[in-house]
Amino acid sequence: MSSEKHFIIYLTEAAERIHGLDPAFFFASPKEDQESFIHTYVQHRELDARNWFPFIRLDGLLVNTSRLHFGNGGPANRSIIKKAIYDDGYRPLISDNAIAGMFRIPLQTTSREMWGDDPDVSECGYFTERGHKFQCLKCLGCGLAGAMNPDTGENAVHKVNAVTGVSADGEIIDEYRNSLEPRTGTIPKWDFVAPDKKTNEKLATFWQSEYVAPGAHFPVTVIFRDVAAVELGLALTAFDVSWKNIGLGSHKNGRLQGWNEDPGSFTMHVWMDSWLRDEEVYRGAELTHIIDLAKRSAYEARQKKLLTKYNLDTSRLRGVKTGKERAEKGSG
Ligand SMILES: [Zn+2]
Repeated sequence: MSSEKHFIIYLTEAAERIHGLDPAFFFASPKEDQESFIHTYVQHRELDARNWFPFIRLDGLLVNTSRLHFGNGGPANRSIIKKAIYDDGYRPLISDNAIAGMFRIPLQTTSREMWGDDPDVSECGYFTERGHKFQCLKCLGCGLAGAMNPDTGENAVHKVNAVTGVSADGEIIDEYRNSLEPRTGTIPKWDFVAPDKKTNEKLATFWQSEYVAPGAHFPVTVIFRDVAAVELGLALTAFDVSWKNIGLGSHKNGRLQGWNEDPGSFTMHVWMDSWLRDEEVYRGAELTHIIDLAKRSAYEARQKKLLTKYNLDTSRLRGVKTGKERAEKGSG
């Protein structure tokens, strides 16, 4: 059996080919050659839930290097830190929905910069007049994080998804403070403005907030499926932004340390094109190299304008009988 690791060879090749690509020459080449290059190294553009490979699992421990405040925060304004009953009391938990929302934002922003002239892309993520959240099924956010159009029923499964667990060692701190000025930048659990009894003028604001003390470990598993090298890099870069924005509060950003600063706790498992093929496992310096190759490819692909909108592919579904059809026609 060969000891060669296919995924790192593939990513090295992707980084080299994208780095060496001359856009003028590339875009003048036959369409089929362009499509084949894009599919191999840049994007699996046709969104089809039945595509599973490569299947990548990246797991380890996120550590907060600053306070993580409870309450709504971050660009998505979601409740990010939650509490779970665990062992002898409450322990903190990072909301998976919040991570999914934070993950989508930098991808949507990048998409708007590239394809903002498409009204679907520029409206993606906003609410429609019917009160539905509109998702365009074309942009990098929809392509990687999954999307659903409640009006048409069209949907694309997520290619990338993060799940976190309860922090077993996370300490939740209740903080009581007062200030002359009204507090901004954090969401208090409780506050009270003390008035001067004679003039009714505000004297001070008393408030209470909760945060997770630095040093808590949060287990995290991220799944990537049906992604080319550049898509993996785009997703890893979007997570870098998410980890920096989680736990906003008290005038400072909550800060989670992930696989970039400390890959020590992280492991990547890769299945290239079949569940039966040997699983490849990457850790330490090799994992750091993989992350670097993928992110570099993503950066250069964007610079060279190789990214394109996704396309929901339901053509293969036409041959699939619905349950009603099967019942009417019999099992044959
Ligand atoms: Zn979208």
